[in-house]
Amino acid sequence: MALTTWVHVPEGSAFGVHSLPYGVFSHGDEDPRIGVAIGSYVLDLAPLAASEWADFASVFTAPTLNPFLGLGRQAWHAVRQWITERLTDESYRALVEPELLPLDQVRLHMPFEVADYVDFYASEHHAANLGRLFRPDEPPLPPNWKHLPVGYHGRAGTVSVSGTPLVRPCGQRKAPDDAAPTFGPSARLDYEVEVGFVVGTPTRLGQRVSVDQVRDHVFGVVLVNDWSARDLQVWETRPLGPFLGKSFLTSISPWVVPLEALEAAMIDPPAQDPRPLPYLAGKDNFGLDVDLEVRLNGQVIARPRYSEMYWTPAQMLAHLTVNGAALRTGDLFASGTVSGPEPAAYGSLIELTSAGAEPLTLADGTTRAFLHDGDQVTISATAPGPDGTRIGLGEVTGTVCPCLPASPPT
Ligand code: MN
Repeated sequence: MALTTWVHVPEGSAFGVHSLPYGVFSHGDEDPRIGVAIGSYVLDLAPLAASEWADFASVFTAPTLNPFLGLGRQAWHAVRQWITERLTDESYRALVEPELLPLDQVRLHMPFEVADYVDFYASEHHAANLGRLFRPDEPPLPPNWKHLPVGYHGRAGTVSVSGTPLVRPCGQRKAPDDAAPTFGPSARLDYEVEVGFVVGTPTRLGQRVSVDQVRDHVFGVVLVNDWSARDLQVWETRPLGPFLGKSFLTSISPWVVPLEALEAAMIDPPAQDPRPLPYLAGKDNFGLDVDLEVRLNGQVIARPRYSEMYWTPAQMLAHLTVNGAALRTGDLFASGTVSGPEPAAYGSLIELTSAGAEPLTLADGTTRAFLHDGDQVTISATAPGPDGTRIGLGEVTGTVCPCLPASPPT
C-alpha cells in the first residue's frame, strides 16, 4: 500500500517515503554519521534513535554503514519499519522534525567501507557488443558466457563516492599498427553504467550462498560508474582480465537503497538457454526493473534498462561464493555495463560510438568519440514502487580532470 509522509517531499523528488536510502553525511565540522534521505532532507538517525533509547542507536554514530550492514536482515527490516513509522505517523512529528537537516547543508561521504569489489559482465548485449569490437574474428560471446556469470576482482580501495574528480589516467597503450607500446594519458576514457549490490551479512570460509539466500546477504543497491580507459584495457587485458584500465577510480552513488525498497521492482529472471547448472537456480531468483539514464554534460545520451540483464544478482552471488570464497560486510559486486539491444540503451561510449569510429554529436555541436577533460557524466535511475509510485535510486556523477604529468616517476 502506498504510504504518505508528513515531510514535504517536492514533486519529482528521488526520495519519497518508499525509498528511504541510507548514507553517511556530515554537517558543519561535526563527525560523519548515518542518515536517511527523505525529500530534500536527511534524517539524522543517531540523535533520534538515542532519544528513544533504541537498542540499535550506536550503529548510527559510525562514519560508515558497515556496523549497521553487519546487523543482518531482521535488523534491517526492523529499522526500516521504525523509520517509516516515524515519518508517516503525525504524532512523531514534534520529535522527528528537529532531526531533519536540509540536504543542501550537508556533505555526503563514502557510504560504506568497501571490503572486496567484484565486477561482473552480466549484460548479453554489452558482452556481445564488446566481443565484436575487441575480438572481431571470434564469436561475440566467449564459450563460457552463458554457463556462468563472468566477473573479476577489482580494486576496492579506489571505489569512491559520487563527485570525486576523475583524474585522467596515464599508462601503456598500443594501437594495432604501432610497433611498440607508448606511455601517456589515456585517449579513450569511457564510463560504464552499472548497478552495484552491497553485502551486509558475511559468510565463513567454505560457506556457499545459494540463489535463495541472496536477500539474507545483500542489503541494498548503489549506482556505479565503472570508469574505463579503453586503450589501456585493450593492451593489458589478455590473458588475465582488466587491471590498470579500470582500477584508477570507480564511482558509486552516496545513497544505498535497501533491497526491501525494490520489492515492487523485482521481476521474473530472463529466459536462460542453455539452462545453467543447478547451483545457479532457485525459487527466489529475480531480475530488477530499474530504468537508468546517463547524461553527458547535462544531456541525456542513453537510457539502459536493468530488466534486460541476462544474469541476476542472486546468480552472481551464488557463483561468487560457490568455490567457498567468504563474504565480508561491505563487499560490493557490480553488474557490469547495463546495455540493451539498441544504441539508445547502450551503457558505454565505446558501444555508442563503435569504439570511436562514429562519434556522438552533442547538442552544443561538439563531438565525442571518448570523454574530454571537463566532461561530466551523471547516471541516475528509478524503479517501480508500491501502488504506482516510483523509487528513486539517486545519482552518481563525476567530472574528468586533466591527467597527471605524462612522464612516469623516475
Ligand atoms: Mn564494468
